[in-house]
Amino acid sequence: MKLDRRNFIKSSAILGSSALLLPNTKIFANTNIITNSAKKMNLKFKPYTLELKHVFTIATSSRSTTPVMLTEIEYDGVIGYGEASMPPYLGESQETASKFLTKVNLEQFNDPFQLENILEYVDSIDVNNSAAKASIDIALHDLVGKLLGEPWYKIWGYDKSKTPNTSFTIGIDTPEVIKQKVKEAEIYKVIKVKLGRENDKEMIETIRSVTDKPIVADINQGWKEKEKALEMIYWLQDKGVQFVEQPMPKENIDDMAWLTEKSPLPTIADEFLQRLPDVVRAHGVYSGINIKLMKCTGLREAQKMLILAKALGMKVMLGCMTETSCAISAASQLAPESDWADLDGNLLISNDPYEGTLIENGKIRLMDYPGIGLKSL
Ligand code: MG
Repeated sequence: MKLDRRNFIKSSAILGSSALLLPNTKIFANTNIITNSAKKMNLKFKPYTLELKHVFTIATSSRSTTPVMLTEIEYDGVIGYGEASMPPYLGESQETASKFLTKVNLEQFNDPFQLENILEYVDSIDVNNSAAKASIDIALHDLVGKLLGEPWYKIWGYDKSKTPNTSFTIGIDTPEVIKQKVKEAEIYKVIKVKLGRENDKEMIETIRSVTDKPIVADINQGWKEKEKALEMIYWLQDKGVQFVEQPMPKENIDDMAWLTEKSPLPTIADEFLQRLPDVVRAHGVYSGINIKLMKCTGLREAQKMLILAKALGMKVMLGCMTETSCAISAASQLAPESDWADLDGNLLISNDPYEGTLIENGKIRLMDYPGIGLKSL
């Protein structure tokens, strides 16, 4: 039935007082206002353990599994999927995520399109818990995109042909294993290498003995002296390295600003930064930032960081943890606007429960599934 002016005024008045209690009456059927007020969002979550194909070593740790939490937000029969990935060094766990998610009450909201309000509430529940917060943000974006029937890159107006190549990460290892991994990474056009130990030059020489592909280097705060770091950057530039990520400890702000000013290669902040205000702190200290959904609470804040960094003339890289295709597909919605992407987390695991963004000839290919571009297997 059509909603005439009188009924509209009547319904608006009722909505003003007790919208959630309204029955889905015949008179008000098929009106968006009533539909939204009568339906609720339901959050579910379950722990899941990702199995890594290789033991993964960086400058500070080694591991073969990653704990994650998979979330679902259901609304009006539509399900949005989300994920929190929690490598132990970041301080979150399935226990902390479970504790946080138990406190989240989405039933108080009757309109999933109120992303700002809902996510501001989620952020206010507790400090930290950024991966757990991201698991809500991602599920909510997936849900809203599905309700709109479009993937987020399209809703945001991005050109999917502009996605960059993704780099494929090779951990610190013996020369034999590194050569093997480079061979396995044949379809990828950019190799990301973890440096920051005694054998940095050996790692690069080993890779160069089997491929001439561009390399990007992640030091994970491993270099302690700025002069040595600069010398190393010049050496890496000669070897075809494109940028250096987090070369020095995050606390060394003055040394880092000095290094960035003199460096022939862009310097990218990773461990140094987490959320939106950190982009301002990174300006003038690093040439660019690495945005990760698990650190910045999800897509909503990630997009704000991307826009701010670009406005400040900084480079933007999209990164990830070891994650399923869920969080990777979400992050890749922003890929058309990024300079570099390191979205290989789902490629490093053997038990991905989803299918989403693909890598074709090393390039990120966004799928046209609505939401975050994901299909549940
Ligand atoms: Mg990094």
